[in-house]
Amino acid sequence: MSKTHNFSAGPCILPQEVLKQASKSILNFDNNLSLIEISHRSKPFDYVMNKAKSLVKDLLDIPNGYSILFLQGGASLQFSMIPYNLMKINGSAVYLNTGTWASKAIKEAKKFGNVIIAADSSNSNFSTIPKNYNLPKEFDYFHCTSNNTIYGTQIKEFPSINGVMVCDMSSDIFSRKINIERFDVIYAGAQKNMGPAGTTLVIIKDEILGKTKREIPSMLNYNTHIEKDSMFNTPPVFSIYVSMLTLKWLKNLGGISTIEKENQNKADLLYNEIDNNSLFEGTATKEDRSNMNVCFKLVDKSKETDFNNMCEKAKISGLKGHRSVGGYRASIYNAMPIDSIKVLIDVMHKLENN
Ligand SMILES: *Cc1c(COP(=O)(O)O)cnc(C)c1O
Repeated sequence: MSKTHNFSAGPCILPQEVLKQASKSILNFDNNLSLIEISHRSKPFDYVMNKAKSLVKDLLDIPNGYSILFLQGGASLQFSMIPYNLMKINGSAVYLNTGTWASKAIKEAKKFGNVIIAADSSNSNFSTIPKNYNLPKEFDYFHCTSNNTIYGTQIKEFPSINGVMVCDMSSDIFSRKINIERFDVIYAGAQKNMGPAGTTLVIIKDEILGKTKREIPSMLNYNTHIEKDSMFNTPPVFSIYVSMLTLKWLKNLGGISTIEKENQNKADLLYNEIDNNSLFEGTATKEDRSNMNVCFKLVDKSKETDFNNMCEKAKISGLKGHRSVGGYRASIYNAMPIDSIKVLIDVMHKLENN
């Protein structure tokens, strides 16, 4: 079978062995029953849920006092759940506007109270991560996006926040070491670096909840899901199961420190080609470049058809940049093999030497 190199930004590449195991479990997970036709309260699924949680805890080194939830509604529902649960009535929150997803989070938060934009990089079409901004004295929480999937920028040094720190890590969770204790809420849609679409991982420090005096609908209340162990209603069993398999794969590989090194190598290799190839240029400021989503464009647009054709011939898929940036975006998440990156580099090379 000749392989397609999947550079899709999301839903994205998953390890082959995970896909194989997942397809087996669709047919026969337990006693000739499919994973997706057994009760979520059965013993075999209970094991999956607990295993998934313990792998998250283990891989990210999460101390006691945090809850690990698998919710639905995507990262996008978190844009509303965060202010619903954390913003006091007549309260305020501080946001960093670093891209499309951050802007969407801001739009929802504004429906709950006062949103203060600490910094905004829209002037540079979000090609940089703002630094050295001032924060107000009082606010209910600070919100940032660790990796801007569409623009290919990534926060390398998180700001020190004197207060509640919330981070959307949808597109770089499990890709690098993070110090959990600096965060109060981390959330991530599964489909970028953890599993198939359908579940959202939320890691939340228990002590920050229950302080807003808001009446919160049960499904949107983090405490509901904490009390019921992510089983208040039927959880997205398939997505949680495949996430569990992916996290197991990651652990067997050597965990976060191993994958972080691999991700750095993969990104260095590709950025090096972009910087040294006269036909291409990167679109993000160098120091803020993402190790997950590598955005670049052709200097000479007349080469576009040639490049696209060569990519197609090499079985490179999903390279088109987001419509708001144009150009190309190579998403090189954890499961992306270095060999696929070498195939892309080879095509870029050949185009230059044509
Ligand atoms: C993809 C993405 C989202 C949206 O995720 P959904 O699960 O589709 O709602 C939010 N934030 C970031 C950083 C993303 O990359």
